[in-house]
Amino acid sequence: MMNHVIDLRSDTVTQPSPGMREAIAAAVVGDDVYGEDPTVNALQERLADLLGFEAGLFAPSGTQSNLLGVMTHCGRGDEYIVGQDAHTYRFEGGGAAVLGSIQPQPITNQADGTIALADIERAIKPDDPHFARSRLIALENTIGGKPLPIDYLRDAVALARRRGLALHLDGARLFNAAVRLNVRARELAAGFDTVSICLSKGLGIPAGSVLCGSRAHIAAARRWRKMLGGGMRQAGVLAAAGLYALEHNIDRLAIDHKNAQKLADGLARVPGVKVEPQHTNIVFAHFPQERLTALRSHLDACGIRVALGQRTRFVTHLDVDARMIDTTVDAFARFFH
Ligand SMILES: *Cc1c(COP(=O)(O)O)cnc(C)c1O
Repeated sequence: MMNHVIDLRSDTVTQPSPGMREAIAAAVVGDDVYGEDPTVNALQERLADLLGFEAGLFAPSGTQSNLLGVMTHCGRGDEYIVGQDAHTYRFEGGGAAVLGSIQPQPITNQADGTIALADIERAIKPDDPHFARSRLIALENTIGGKPLPIDYLRDAVALARRRGLALHLDGARLFNAAVRLNVRARELAAGFDTVSICLSKGLGIPAGSVLCGSRAHIAAARRWRKMLGGGMRQAGVLAAAGLYALEHNIDRLAIDHKNAQKLADGLARVPGVKVEPQHTNIVFAHFPQERLTALRSHLDACGIRVALGQRTRFVTHLDVDARMIDTTVDAFARFFH
């Protein structure tokens, strides 16, 4: 099954490469709840260093890493300002509200993925017992595959400083943004108080995210991580994969972007298919509702896996090559010919 299927549902579906498996096998490990896993410590330091922070904290998932970030800045009765489309708000089970007693203040995202600074200003509550305490702005980069504009990041940081709010970045795919914009990831992280990076997306490790921040924020996040059940023991087997990924799998994200572009261009040539502008490793295409059932069977028969809908997301990754893109485009072209 695995080998002949082209899986474009997400960049989380990758298999660890032989090199990564070797790194996992060779990992020197210890009990990370005691802070004694040298490989986890090395990964945390390496990522903090890459992004320009004092410290990092390895977490089992991006969902937990974001929650640690939000809970580090906000307490009971506080609120965080966040995009309506943001993963943190929309796709994390409402964890900040459920487990942190933190109210989200969602704001409609603009077409470019930003949340308008004027909307943020308007959402900040006065110091009055009627209102939750506005404490944090949470941004996401990339969002829907779009890198946030660098000017916007600078202005958002200035706004947060001016209004005394903390700033968290869900940088699950921050390296995709950095590669696409051809800047160092630390430039995109500048001014944020905490940044969460997913290692299990385009970077291809089996599981794990890292939260970066000041030593004080990371110490606080470590307490929350323990409470949330995220304290792992010999997690160095995963961290070794993370170190391997930082070394081998960042620059190659450009290949995923190129394959995504090839897919976008190819699908755009298929009659009846509408493709949204593509930026990194994610492509959104629109298909006629009345053809979806037949299209689903056709793709199944072709061994192509996507979460098919009227608006379908395709994600390229380590286990998708240019030839598979050709096969995919060809399958759609044959269906819609
Ligand atoms: C995948 C993802 C997460 C959460 O990561 P999990 O490891 O799946 O919990 C957070 N934010 C964004 C933008 C993501 O794409």
